[in-house]
Amino acid sequence: MSDEAERKMQFLYALRSKGVTDSRVLTAMEKVDRGPFIRGIFADRAYEDMPLPIACGQTISQPSIVGLMTQALQVSARDTVLEVGTGSGYQAAILSQLARRVYTVDRHRRLVREAREIFDALKLSNITAFTADGSFGLPDQAPFDRILVTAAAEDPPGPLLAQLKIGGIMVLPVGQSDTVQSLIRVTRSESGFEYDELRPVRFVPLVEGLGRD
Ligand code: SAH
Repeated sequence: MSDEAERKMQFLYALRSKGVTDSRVLTAMEKVDRGPFIRGIFADRAYEDMPLPIACGQTISQPSIVGLMTQALQVSARDTVLEVGTGSGYQAAILSQLARRVYTVDRHRRLVREAREIFDALKLSNITAFTADGSFGLPDQAPFDRILVTAAAEDPPGPLLAQLKIGGIMVLPVGQSDTVQSLIRVTRSESGFEYDELRPVRFVPLVEGLGRD
């Protein structure tokens, strides 16, 4: 077996052993190479199941967490999805394989610019990336079938709840930064919002305003 095939097999094995079992999610993660989303000295660790540093003091999430969050979001092929926290762009690229349209926002211009370059190079034409404070969502593109937040807020931001369709699902980490946070799933029905706690996680905080970069 080639080194690449073996690396890919180990990558998928790590995902499965940590509970990523949805075959559509696994296929998407098999298809989108994590390599291009990691630059510089950590590039050779792209296939390990670890979070890694990216520009602007942020992190690309651990692949198994990307898989578990994507699985919890239950994306279908007709969905319009909002991701808050573009970071490297890897999570948005995975979502782009499963959804009709993906909007992703980050408060750092540089991260958005670099992620767009990768989306273009990989011809992921159903992703649109914006620089914005994602805690306000994207009012012009709302409402969304699915919302995924990849930075931790103390509570689910009100504008994001408001921009979720009836029948929609939002997955997000909540809790104070620097402590263990909980990944929660919010489901919106006619009668209101239902909250499920999924697992402990650790994310960088959701920060107000735009980055100074
Ligand atoms: N999903 C990313 C990892 C995200 S790390 C990936 O796949 O690589 C969290 C990101 O959230 C960081 O890039 C950070 O800049 C961004 N962020 C934090 N607060 C934000 C806010 N209010 N609005 C938009 N992005 C925010």
